[in-house]
Amino acid sequence: MKHDPVDVAIVGGGTAAAAAALTLAGSGYRVAAIAPGNAPGDRIGESLAAAGVDLLTDLGLAEAFAAGPHRPANLRYSAWGSALLAQANPLVPSGGLAYVLDRPAFDRMLRDAIEATGAAIAGTVERALPTGAGWTLQLTGGERLHARFAIDCSGRAAVIARGAGVRRRAARSVAAYAFLRQTGGEVAPTAATLIEAVEDGWWYATLLPDLRLALAFFSDPDRLPRGITRDARAWARMIAGTRSIARWLESADYAIDEPPRLASAATTWLQPVAGEGWAAAGDAAAAFDPLSSHGLTTALWSGRRAAFAAAAMLEGDAGLLSRYAEDIDAAIRSVLAARTSVYSRERRFARAPFWTRRK
Ligand SMILES: Cc1cc2nc3c(=O)[nH]c(=O)nc-3n(C[C@H](O)[C@H](O)[C@H](O)COP(=O)(O)OP(=O)(O)OC[C@H]3O[C@@H](n4cnc5c(N)ncnc54)[C@H](O)[C@@H]3O)c2cc1C
Repeated sequence: MKHDPVDVAIVGGGTAAAAAALTLAGSGYRVAAIAPGNAPGDRIGESLAAAGVDLLTDLGLAEAFAAGPHRPANLRYSAWGSALLAQANPLVPSGGLAYVLDRPAFDRMLRDAIEATGAAIAGTVERALPTGAGWTLQLTGGERLHARFAIDCSGRAAVIARGAGVRRRAARSVAAYAFLRQTGGEVAPTAATLIEAVEDGWWYATLLPDLRLALAFFSDPDRLPRGITRDARAWARMIAGTRSIARWLESADYAIDEPPRLASAATTWLQPVAGEGWAAAGDAAAAFDPLSSHGLTTALWSGRRAAFAAAAMLEGDAGLLSRYAEDIDAAIRSVLAARTSVYSRERRFARAPFWTRRK
């Protein structure tokens, strides 16, 4: 099946795609936002920076966001550079952290917003072929769509951009994560976020709005026990090796009854992030170390900027697109510098591979 040609194809249905679709809504351009259309489920990544809330307001989502079950991110403790737990954070995004999200509710809000623009197409892009006057996107099931401009918001998959730019990587970090439930009901869990550095990486735990605890361990693939995703006992032993995280789980009766899932947490970026007839936004352009809690905000910011650049490009003005690429490059340099500085503040494990690789 062949879809009607569009001016802009947005590949993806996440945060960057929603920002791009909402920015172009009502612009008069024909827009398609292509994503598999799965129902949003549990997903790790729930800290939203204050700058992200401002961007949601710019996109017209202030009311929908305020109606969500998200909780204010007030308390944040870390044991970084010392075993002592301090009310501080190794890396705070500019303006601070604002909310701990109910991530499925947040993702549903974005999906509904894309659908309300009328641009949503359920599908998966398998290949993107440049045609000289744009792109032909081949979707699973043999469907095809022609677009004059493509914005790649497909996350780390970067389905269009990976063929157009070179992918760089600072480290192969991986996150092992789980969502834990309280077993007893006697202790009210503290609405806090806790970060703890250990020899093989760092832990992160935060109380979700539904009172489950999101727990993640960021490490390198070769520092995780083999078969960890099938071994709840090994996961429990790793947790027992922590100091503050283990105490928190124990004191509030959180059960470790399932093994963790894995997600890539590598810091990777594309060079360039835009070119003739295309731009990458969100994780497709640059996926940062989650220590920065920048990912969602960058996805909102870059999705919006890429959409403005696409609209200008369709009018024959390439200036916004090159400024967009320059600004993303500058943001990547600044995040990489901040990341090195934060990791170098932890000196207790100076010889451990995880830490030496990040110096
Ligand atoms: C472990 C971990 C913890 C994190 N914690 C935080 C945090 O606390 N705070 C924060 O701000 N950020 C965090 N992040 C980062 C944040 O989750 C991402 O930066 C953000 O989700 C990126 O949004 P995106 O829209 O670019 O990509 P995604 O959310 O990955 O969306 C990609 C979209 O593309 C679609 N797609 C993929 N392939 C195709 C295809 N072939 N065809 C069509 N559609 C396709 C997907 O279905 C999806 O809809 C974390 C990341 C990790 C790995």
